[in-house]
Amino acid sequence: MDMTDASKVSSMIVAELKASLGEAYVIDKPDEMAHYLTDWRKRFTGKAICVVRPASTDEVATVVRIAAQHGLNIVPQGGNTGLVGGSVPIGNGNEIVVSLGRLNKVRDIDTVSDVMVVEAGVSLASAQEAALNVGRLFPLSLASEGTATIGGAISTNAGGTAVLAYGTMRDLVVGLEVVLADGRIWNGLGKLKKDNTGYDLKNLFVGSEGTLGIVTAAVVKLFPEPKSRATAFCGLASTEDAMAFFKLAKAEAGPELTTFELIPRLGIELVLKHFPDTRDPLFFKHQWYVMVEFSSLTADGADTLAQRILFDSVEKAYLEDSVFAVTLAQRDEFWRLREYMPEAQTREGASIKHDISVSVDTIPSFIEMVVNDITALIPDIRPFVFGHMGDGNLHFNLQAPEGADGAEFLKRANEIHEIVYRHITAVQGSISAEHGIGQVKRERLAHTKDPVALDLMRTLKRALDPDGRLNPGKVL
Ligand SMILES: Cc1cc2nc3c(=O)[nH]c(=O)nc-3n(C[C@H](O)[C@H](O)[C@H](O)COP(=O)(O)OP(=O)(O)OC[C@H]3O[C@@H](n4cnc5c(N)ncnc54)[C@H](O)[C@@H]3O)c2cc1C
Repeated sequence: MDMTDASKVSSMIVAELKASLGEAYVIDKPDEMAHYLTDWRKRFTGKAICVVRPASTDEVATVVRIAAQHGLNIVPQGGNTGLVGGSVPIGNGNEIVVSLGRLNKVRDIDTVSDVMVVEAGVSLASAQEAALNVGRLFPLSLASEGTATIGGAISTNAGGTAVLAYGTMRDLVVGLEVVLADGRIWNGLGKLKKDNTGYDLKNLFVGSEGTLGIVTAAVVKLFPEPKSRATAFCGLASTEDAMAFFKLAKAEAGPELTTFELIPRLGIELVLKHFPDTRDPLFFKHQWYVMVEFSSLTADGADTLAQRILFDSVEKAYLEDSVFAVTLAQRDEFWRLREYMPEAQTREGASIKHDISVSVDTIPSFIEMVVNDITALIPDIRPFVFGHMGDGNLHFNLQAPEGADGAEFLKRANEIHEIVYRHITAVQGSISAEHGIGQVKRERLAHTKDPVALDLMRTLKRALDPDGRLNPGKVL
């Protein structure tokens, strides 16, 4: 087919889609599509015939059928905040981006079963708000929650800052509605707590990054809204002390320990440097910090619990110092410090990142081993290891040496990846804790995942998407 024939076919498909969805909801002008074709980190830009914005499950199914008739592939997209290049096309130009943003209704909230039925394009922040309006908590919380969607969070099995108490998205999904590769709709929107009638289909789609089906709606769990929260910033001498503090806090607070975030001094310094509206949380400098939060169903429960645990931890010399957020503004200040970390890294210049997980008890020795090996390679590299310590999930990031040429530093990324992933394999950790595989870690997955597991994944992909139309070039 020459160029003129190809563009005639594209125009015909666009016309067919416009007839089904409405003129305004099929975008084919390059400048209007651009926003959908580049990922959040601006590392990947793809090409697409068009971007469609269906408003219902039936419209999604129609798009999938039209795509199949014309031999086209589909890239599901939510808020496009994913960090592994999964939500944008790969660039061969035969893809349609299906943006789920108009599926934005909360269909039902049931405070007896404590579940809510939400469409895929509802933002995480709107889902939290809908739950709060009926006195419940939808606990999934990420720095990107204003834009990230329920469908995206399900498809990446997102984590965030409250996993310790409430689990990842997988733990929060009760049922799903999914448009399959052949255009059929699977209605699995049951609210049942108990249902042992065969394979757990919903879990196939959770974390599948749009490669097995398009999630259009979900039943998600709700929880009682905590009546009190206590947030503290603690200064520590070492990661071993952070581990001792974690064990004590977990033993004493159980599920009321809702956040346990590890932060290095470099993290605080870069945030202070690049965000002038922030301030050092503690009077003296410390090697490490932990931001900890307790939540309770009673009005003063969190404060009482937090004070006891922090007092004990200072007594036992796990903590060098700590400060409570006394006001809501102070709590926000602490959270801002934590949430500015990724952007502070970007503003500081080149860095090499890894989103990994290991079993929680190995964190101190793991950090020490990997940092030793990396500093042996590049002595003045600046380790910036932070994250959800309570979940065993570290953002194992390495900042370029001060004053170094960023481009030259990034040329050494593979040497650094090799060290990190060698250690990950040795401790049976994961090369992707919460961001997924997408395009970024596809090759790495093929080399590190158990061959039998990979084979099973390929078998499932062939069974559910035999023509490979859903999000090609991602994950497998
Ligand atoms: C500042 C910032 C902080 C972040 N913090 C965290 C964090 O703490 N924890 C964490 O886990 N992640 C985090 N992320 C990553 C990201 O926000 C999450 O992965 C989020 O769940 C993606 O949602 P989204 O709607 O933007 O999905 P998108 O980016 O649009 O898509 C992500 C993947 O899901 C697929 N997809 C999207 N919608 C659907 C659907 N309806 N059906 C099928 N497939 C679909 C896409 O094809 C793609 O593969 C962060 C990102 C940013 C920018």
